[in-house]
Amino acid sequence: MAGEETKKNASQSAGSVSGGRPQTRLVHAGSRRSQYGETSEAMFLTQGFLYDSPEQAEARFKNEGPADSFIYARYGNPTVAMFQDRLAAYEGAEACFATASGMAAMHASMFALLKAGDHVVASRALFGSCLYIIEQLLPRFGVESTLVDGVDLNAWENAVRPETKLFFLESPSNPTLEIIDIAAVAAVAHRAGAQLVVDNVFATPVFQRPIALGADIVMYSATKHIDGQGRVLGGALLGQAELIDEKVETYVKHTGGAMNPFTAWVMLKGMETLELRVKAQAETALKLAEAAAAHSAVIRAIHPFLPSHPQYELATRQMSGGGTVLSVDLKGGKAAAFAFLNAFDLIGISNNLGDAKSLATHPATTTHKNLTEEMRDVLGISDGLVRISVGLEAPEDLIEDLQRALDAANRVAAA
Ligand SMILES: *Cc1c(COP(=O)(O)O)cnc(C)c1O
Repeated sequence: MAGEETKKNASQSAGSVSGGRPQTRLVHAGSRRSQYGETSEAMFLTQGFLYDSPEQAEARFKNEGPADSFIYARYGNPTVAMFQDRLAAYEGAEACFATASGMAAMHASMFALLKAGDHVVASRALFGSCLYIIEQLLPRFGVESTLVDGVDLNAWENAVRPETKLFFLESPSNPTLEIIDIAAVAAVAHRAGAQLVVDNVFATPVFQRPIALGADIVMYSATKHIDGQGRVLGGALLGQAELIDEKVETYVKHTGGAMNPFTAWVMLKGMETLELRVKAQAETALKLAEAAAAHSAVIRAIHPFLPSHPQYELATRQMSGGGTVLSVDLKGGKAAAFAFLNAFDLIGISNNLGDAKSLATHPATTTHKNLTEEMRDVLGISDGLVRISVGLEAPEDLIEDLQRALDAANRVAAA
């Protein structure tokens, strides 16, 4: 990064620095400096952009530049472009389009790529709103779907139809942290002439690179680890320019799901510390999972990097870290789970995740309450299951809080 050349580039107003190692890109990539040479990225709170002449306006509407120029904030904005370029440079993707939320991104991936008559295959352990789009919304527009046990490669293969156009999966899955073999599913998708979209929220861009494993599009809820401090909603889709700049961007810019510049600015600043935060959170998550696994209140502690995880081998091959979330299945069902949650001093009760503050939730009565009991059984979402998103507190304080809460769960389970 040193040297006269880089310094010159960095002081130019346009262009994205995509060199350096990934952590360096998190700090510098995508920067666009104004004439003031500000060190921190500027927040361009503007909807519109002036043209020097009608000729220039005409040229911009024809997409004939100049490079890095803008038309309207629903189409693009300099602060949003900085965020998109930074995330693309970190992910190793050709292109990125940022959206107002993770769900705006997921929705755009479906509606930009599918048409009536197409068929989707998706893993059944998905974020609730993603299931809503696939099961409730797509059929209204003539798109059918098949939900499969994502861990079972034959199930993906068997679900393929001549009209299958898209595969969708989440790995690790919420809240039982099942691991799906992304490279193997991508191969099945591509043999079928379909494209694979991966919801990479739980893995984070720090630990898993679906594009390198064969995925066509990576989806984020930037609300989670990319902000990482519980402030704003945002999302992103990444992949080849042909998919993102043409299909996704065209869809989102006309349907209004664009990210706003304030959010993009918060996300840009979040990215500077993304690796540091997520690596520390994942290290603590594994420690908590180990502590939980050793406690008599617990039937099963789940974290992808615990050797007892049924797909430990795949998890450690596919991911460079196990993620910031763990789940514990407690003896004594709902009563024990509620006693556990009520006993926390430090860990908050919230369905959010990826925050600097540790948060715990009871999926069976909140995020997954709309599933049938049979489906919850199939997915392993028992009444005793609690999901914990690990934050940035001192690991020792979190372990003390966890131990106290596990003791409280034990008293209820024994009663
Ligand atoms: C939060 C989340 C989403 C949705 O993102 P929003 O930013 O809340 O719209 C999608 N998938 C997963 C796995 C999530 O955790």
